[in-house]
Amino acid sequence: MENAVTASAAIEMAGENSETPRTWLVTGGAGFIGSHLVEALLARGDSAIVLDDLSTGRLENLAPVAGHERLEFIEGTVLDRAEVASAVARADVVAHLAAAVGVRLIVDQPVKTLETNIHGTEVVLHECGRRGTPVFIASSSEVYGKGVRCPFREDDDVLLGATTRTRWSYAASKMVDEFLALSWHRESGLPARIGRFFNTVGPRQVGWYGMVVPRFVGQALKGGPITVYGDGQQSRAFGHVGDVVRAVMALMEVPASSGRVFNIGGPEEVTIRTLAERVRDLVDPSIEIQCISYEEAYGTGFEDMTRRAADTTRLRETIGFAPSRGLDEILVDVVADLRGRE
Ligand code: UDP
Repeated sequence: MENAVTASAAIEMAGENSETPRTWLVTGGAGFIGSHLVEALLARGDSAIVLDDLSTGRLENLAPVAGHERLEFIEGTVLDRAEVASAVARADVVAHLAAAVGVRLIVDQPVKTLETNIHGTEVVLHECGRRGTPVFIASSSEVYGKGVRCPFREDDDVLLGATTRTRWSYAASKMVDEFLALSWHRESGLPARIGRFFNTVGPRQVGWYGMVVPRFVGQALKGGPITVYGDGQQSRAFGHVGDVVRAVMALMEVPASSGRVFNIGGPEEVTIRTLAERVRDLVDPSIEIQCISYEEAYGTGFEDMTRRAADTTRLRETIGFAPSRGLDEILVDVVADLRGRE
C-alpha cells in the first residue's frame, strides 16, 4: 500500500497532485492542524473522511472546503470503536490527530485529557492494526517534559515533573500513545509513524485553551495589555501549520519513516518576552506588556518548561524537510487571520 519513493521526492509529492489519489481518515480533522491537513489533501486530489466530536474542533475550520465532493464529515468520537472501525475500513491512510490539547484544557479537565488521548489512540491503532492501514500518530514536544538538553532529539531521555503537577498528565498520555504505536509496529509490522508537534501556529488557531500566539495577537488587537506568564524568559520555537502539514503528508509517502518518531517544529527559538514584543511592534508599539505569575494564570502547582526547541535533523534526512516560514511571517499571517475574524 505504501509507495516506494525517495526522501527528496516525498516532500515534493506532499504538495503536488498525488498520482494515486487515496482516501485519508483524519481524526480531529475539524481542529486547527487537522483542518489544514484536510484542505491540503483535498487540494492535491486525495479524499478525506473527517471524524471529529467538535469538542475543541469547529466546523468553521472546514468552511473553506465545506461541501467538497471528496470530503465526508462524521461528527463522532474516537472513543466509539464501531464508528472508528467503519471509518478505518473505508480509508487507505489514517492521520490520528484527535486529542485533548491545550495547557488550559489539560489543567481544567485532566480526566478527559487522559481518557481521550489514551483510549482514543488505543481504538485507532487497534482498527488500523487489524487491517494493516498506515497510520500517523500525533504526539507532542510535551513528552520531553523539562528536558535534559535542548534542542530536543527524538531519542533523548525525557524528564517529566511529579504526577501531582497536572500539566504532565498530557505528556504521559502522549508517551503512552507513542509506546502503543511503536508496539503495534514491532509486534505486527503496522506502518505507524509518530510526529512530535512542537508549538504549531497559524490561521484558525484559537487562544481559548492557552496557545500563546493567538492569545498575544488577540490581546494586542484589543489594545492590550499582552500578558506574559512568569518572567517571559522561557523560550519556544514556533512552526507554521502549513509546514507541519506538509511534513505529515511527506512522512506518509516514505516507507523508511515507519516505526519511527519525528520532531516536527519551527526553526527559530525565541523567548516569550521577545514574542510579546514582536507582536506588539507588529500591531501597535504603544501596547503594554504585563507579566503575571503562573499561579495567577493556572492556579497553584503549575510547572512550565524553560526551553523548548526541536532538532529536526531526522525529519530533514528522511523527507528533505525545511521549514518555509519564520516567526515574522507566521505572526503576519496570524494577525491577518484574527483581524479578518473581528
Ligand atoms: N504564555 C504566556 N501568556 C499566555 C499564554 C501562554 O506567557 O497568555 C506562555 C506559557 O506560559 C508558555 C508559553 O507562553 O511558557 C507557550 O505557551 P503555550 O500554552 O502556547 O504552549 P506550551 O509551549 O506551554 O505548550
